[in-house]
Amino acid sequence: MESIPERAPDETMTYRRCGASGLLLPRIALGLWHNFGDTRADDTKRATVLRAVELGIAHFDLANNYGPPPGSAERAFGRILADDLAGRRDELVISTKAGFEMWSGPYGDHGSRKHLLASLDQSLTRLGIDYVDVFYHHRPDPETPLEETMTALADAVRRGKALYVGVSNYGPEETRRAAAILDRLGVPLTVHQPRYSMFDRTPERGLFDVLDEIRTGAMVYSPLAQGLLTDRYLDGTVPTDSRAATSRFLDADVIDEDYLERARALAEIARSRGQSLAQLALAWVLHRPQVTGAIVGASSVRQLEQNVAALEASELTEEETERIEAQAVHGTGTRRG
Ligand code: NDP
Repeated sequence: MESIPERAPDETMTYRRCGASGLLLPRIALGLWHNFGDTRADDTKRATVLRAVELGIAHFDLANNYGPPPGSAERAFGRILADDLAGRRDELVISTKAGFEMWSGPYGDHGSRKHLLASLDQSLTRLGIDYVDVFYHHRPDPETPLEETMTALADAVRRGKALYVGVSNYGPEETRRAAAILDRLGVPLTVHQPRYSMFDRTPERGLFDVLDEIRTGAMVYSPLAQGLLTDRYLDGTVPTDSRAATSRFLDADVIDEDYLERARALAEIARSRGQSLAQLALAWVLHRPQVTGAIVGASSVRQLEQNVAALEASELTEEETERIEAQAVHGTGTRRG
């Protein structure tokens, strides 16, 4: 059996156009939801971002509330941009989002024009940049007219504070309506950010069809199910520095016999391809034609290296996808961030 590739050569990255747009995005992007807050070492954050850039990961995904505390991931990334990547802004695609609780009172959350445009200004200040490449509405807000939310996104583009807009966690019908409103405003819905992995198949139930129809790309998040689709927990223990031990978003109770049986069976399929479980999980989401790229998290440079090395593997065969289908399962006790 081949050994599992742990390190990707710098030229491994490939790029795909996002929906009908001209924007090329890397097939693996780095997300800063976890691992970039004030609780993490500056050296690790810096080393991870700089290695990502060397590996061709040109796209970094943030949100107003990433931390902890909220806002600290944007501040940390802004410091790295200023100190280590000065003069390289045009090589990078930086996204941020608004729509989850960020500050107290009626304007710190949801989908109003007031929240979105104020939050974007705050994000730009924390990041120390004049514009983001993609500005997302982070989750649907049933209380605010969709017209208002989409007009705020379009105005962010008109004001030069964002180049493209996206929505995240929107269902199929909300996405279709959002795209129609944006079309009328002359700003296309370039990208959707749904959760998608071998363990969470929700986008297959309608969303991918809509994305095909409206020609919007998908940058999928938590493709490793927050670490459940890696070797992190395969021996049945929960490492003290792991997300299941340290984050309220991943419950250690999900590491049960049922999970272990399925994850180990998937790891076996991965091994037969000369891959780690994480690499198989990435190859699997990237195999879907609607998926522009996968946004991974990484708590170390080593994890990032291993993930990018997933791109070196051969395409999944039909027989392999059928074997995966038999093992993967819905619902894992994970929460959205
Ligand atoms: P993943 O599913 O990629 O999980 C990342 C975690 O998996 C890491 O922190 C690490 O866990 C573990 N891991 C990663 N690679 C390896 C490896 N090679 N070997 C072993 N373990 C590994 O994604 P996230 O859940 O972190 O989400 C990624 C990004 O998606 C976020 O940063 C954010 O940008 C975006 N996102 C968007 C949301 C939205 O609502 N729009 C919601 C959630 C995420 P450990 O820390 O235990 O080492």
